[in-house]
Order: sequence, then structure tokens, then C-alpha cells
Amino acid sequence: MTENSARPQLAHLTAALDELKAKGTHFKLRILDDQQAAVCHYDGKEVINLASNNYLGLANHPKLIEAALAATKAFGVGSGAVRTIAGTMRIHMELEEKIARFKNVEACVVFQSGFAANAGTVSAILGKDDIILSDELNHASIIDGARLSRAKIKVFRHKDAAHCEELLKDVAGEPGHKLVITDGVFSMDGDIGPVDKLAALAEKYGAIMMVDDAHASGVLGLKGRGSVDHFGMHGKVDVQVGTLSKAIGALGGYVCGSRDLIDYLYHRARPFLFSTSHPPSVAATCIAAFEMLENEPERIERLWGNTRYFQGELRRAGFNVGGVTTPATETPITPVIVGEGRMAMEFSRALFDEGVMGTGIAFPTVPEGRARIRLILTSEHTQGQLDQALETLERVGKRMGIVG
Ligand SMILES: *Cc1c(COP(=O)(O)O)cnc(C)c1O
Repeated sequence: MTENSARPQLAHLTAALDELKAKGTHFKLRILDDQQAAVCHYDGKEVINLASNNYLGLANHPKLIEAALAATKAFGVGSGAVRTIAGTMRIHMELEEKIARFKNVEACVVFQSGFAANAGTVSAILGKDDIILSDELNHASIIDGARLSRAKIKVFRHKDAAHCEELLKDVAGEPGHKLVITDGVFSMDGDIGPVDKLAALAEKYGAIMMVDDAHASGVLGLKGRGSVDHFGMHGKVDVQVGTLSKAIGALGGYVCGSRDLIDYLYHRARPFLFSTSHPPSVAATCIAAFEMLENEPERIERLWGNTRYFQGELRRAGFNVGGVTTPATETPITPVIVGEGRMAMEFSRALFDEGVMGTGIAFPTVPEGRARIRLILTSEHTQGQLDQALETLERVGKRMGIVG
């Protein structure tokens, strides 16, 4: 027994964990033994990996590894300070300029994560007299940012622009600033936010428009520029958030917009002011990743080819990949809805035992009764791997009564 294990102060946490165990939704972390890749080893077992956000296979790409090593040799392993004190390295600025050019905006600021970008930005640009109109399925980091801002939060039904407009009308007479905010791609269902309609509403009612493109960057739009490009809404979205942790393959988040927005965030976004900046290796990795997006758009084509094939085959096998009681996926995010949390966790475990890694996701991450495994395709899965995964899904699904 280690020093703290028996103290009563935290007994309520143990009780909460016991409750999860009773419901069958308690999990153990699976441990990756090698590199984040299409086939890899978790807990010592070889699996076809359909659980990562490594859409374009960049997380272990040789060119990115080289860039990280070279930057480490040249500039060391740490930045040594927060950006505003002494921790702004030239390579941080180069990355921000690179992203701004990629996104076709005036300026960009990089945060330590997408979570920090959302939470830090929403809480910085709004205050207690302001009003946030937010999709009910927006990411947790948006919700936390909204709470931190102390603004009033009005939640519109998922992707329901008409409902958003009703709420905008309701608050039209109130003095505060208004913000309309949506995910570009919703992380649990894979559907695309109505960025075009919401941006038009924001324009009509004089609201700020903000999009979180964590799952859209590197996936949607020309060369992976994101949902704003996908909808042809350049210049109509005031605040574009993206992540460097998913398709870009490393770690971080960013905000794109006007020079003044970025300058303001330099002065007011708390994760920027109070948390140390990226190691130079991370910045170098991301720069190399954006170069790959520019130079190898065929990766994105392969990603979408794999997505169409895999989702088509799942539907043919009778799986519910969304579209009935849950939104229909429109991206490589592939929910396989099973219903009960316990069942989703058991399905995930059974697939793992047979060599397929797909994460079980239950309440509160998704609504009660809509538990699922979530699969994500990458550009790097081969036809053979996809077919083997499909065969396994169907066999295990039949055995468990998930498909007929
Ligand atoms: C993953 C995700 C984030 C957080 O990004 P990180 O870089 O992993 O912190 C933010 N928003 C959405 C919609 C996400 O899916």
C-alpha cells in the first residue's frame, strides 16, 4: 500500500468509480507500445488501429520526425517561459505565419492545445454582459470557455440554424456582444456544422462568428483548410480555431482571424499568458506538417477514399453508423451506434481481443442510450487492413447481436 491510499478524504471518488464499474463503463487506459500507426501494438497486442485522430498519418511521418530532431538540436528541448515573458522563439512566429497563410487570414496565435485555444479565446473575448449562442453538441472546451467568460449561454438544438435565429431575435434588444459558435465537424458523430447558415445569421444580427475546426483541419476544404473553405465562407468567420493535435499529428491549437483579434489574445488569453509555450520541436513538426498538406494533397484523397469505402461496407453489413436516432456522419469519423454503454464497452473489448482497436464511448460523452464505438479512418489504412477490420466487425457484431 502506498502512502495515500487509505485516507478517507477521497472516499467519494472511490464510490464514484465503483458506480462506473457497476454500470460497466469504467475503463482502463490502453497503452500504445510503439508508434501511432494504422497497425500498432496496444497492451502488447497487434491491432488494426481505428481509434486515433491521426487522419493523415503524420504523427510518425519521417519528415516530421526529422524536423523535430533538427529543431531540438538547434534550439533545445524547451522554450523556458510563457510567450509574453521570454518564451517566444522565432520558430513560434514562423509557425503562426505559416498557419495564417495556409488559412488565408491576417494572423494566427498558437496555443498549447486545441482545448486551451477554445477555452482561452471564448473566455477572453466575452464578458459577463455578453451572450453566447452555442450548438448543443459543441466540444467541452467551448463549453468551459463559455462558462469561464461568465457570459449568458443560450444553447441551440444541434445544427438547427432556425433555432439559433430564434435565440438571436430573443436577445436582439440586449446590449452585450453576441457570439455564435459551432464545431466545424462534430467529434462524436462526424457531421458537419452549418457554418454557412450560422455565419449568415451572425452577419444579419451583428454577432461574432466562431468555428472550432479541430476535426475539420486537414480533412475538409481545399488541401484541408477546414470548414470555412468547405463552405466558401472566407472572410465571414471572425474566429477560426484549429488543432495541431489531430490531422497535423503533433500537439497544439491555434486561433486565426484579424491582426487585432490575435494581438488582443496575446494580451488577454489566459493560457497564452500563464502557460509555457511549445518546445521548438513541436513548432518545427507543425511547420513540416503544413508543408505536407500543401505538397501532398493525395493524402486527403486517400483519407476520403478509405472513408467512403469503409462506411459503405459497414452500412451494407447492417451497422447503424448514424443517421437514424443520431446525426449521419459526413466525415471520416465513424460512429457505430450500439445503444447501451455496457454493450459499447463490451463490443470494444471483444473487437480488441480479435485485433481491432475502436474506442467505446458512453454517457456523459454521448447521450444516454446512444453509446457507440467510434472509428476513425486514416489515409494510411490499406485496403487489406480495412477488409480485415470489416470482417472482424461483422463477425463480432453478429456474435453479440449488434447486427443480424
Ligand atoms: C479534440 C478537440 C479539441 C481539443 O483539441 P486538442 O488539441 O486535442 O486539445 C477541441 N475541439 C474539438 C471539436 C475537438 O474534437
